[in-house]
Amino acid sequence: MLQLCSLGSGSRGNGTLVRSGDVCVLVDCGFTFRQLERRLAEVDVRPEDLDAVLVTHEHSDHASGVAALKRRTGVAVHATAGTWRGMKRPPGEGDAVVAGDRPFTVGDLSILPVTVPHDAREPVQYRFEARGLALGVLTDLGHPSTHVVERFRGCDGLLLEFNHEPELLAVSSYPEPVKRRVGGRFGHLANAQSARLLAALEPERLQLLVAGHLSEQNNTREHAAAALDAVMADHGAACHIARQEVASGWFEVLT
Ligand SMILES: [Zn+2]
Ligand SMILES: [Zn+2]
Repeated sequence: MLQLCSLGSGSRGNGTLVRSGDVCVLVDCGFTFRQLERRLAEVDVRPEDLDAVLVTHEHSDHASGVAALKRRTGVAVHATAGTWRGMKRPPGEGDAVVAGDRPFTVGDLSILPVTVPHDAREPVQYRFEARGLALGVLTDLGHPSTHVVERFRGCDGLLLEFNHEPELLAVSSYPEPVKRRVGGRFGHLANAQSARLLAALEPERLQLLVAGHLSEQNNTREHAAAALDAVMADHGAACHIARQEVASGWFEVLT
């Protein structure tokens, strides 16, 4: 069994737990230490239980809480060289520099960083494998590159970004340059792009699909659900939409 839990997802903070047996890793920490503690407690995890923190990129909704978490627990932080530079600190004791397409392990969890098209220095997202199962965490990408499709194909569970609905983005109060950034090739996936990507990732194999990183201004749960359902309705996967404010609870995929 592999487990996944969104501690919160969206532009005001992200964190996702992946667990395999005794091994529990956190992907991103965009929360204050107190917030993180509260969200972890909702799913019976303590900060000191974390075996590693994997940072996808330096944007504050993913990395703002990493330094405090390191200071408080000494947890091993994994990030690309560009992300370390973006976080304006060098790796500390027990930390690691990772790179796209160079797999590493934490306990029995095999982890593959996958380079994604996003406007950060060296952004990656992560694919996890253990016990013959695969889980993917895939947010913050402007378009579904061929590379991303190849690396995330055939997962049993996936947390996938459904960021915005172009019509809502067009009329939102965001400044024009920000709209262009969000909707651009190095911004975030629109619902229809996410749906097309999902359709290319062997959706018939998925047991679990969690839609995440929904924009509060430029998307609605209804829009995301409609895009999701269009692809997943004929498949048996459990589908959920992650929330910004609360943890999702544990989801699992089974052999
Ligand atoms: Zn983000
Ligand atoms: Zn980002």
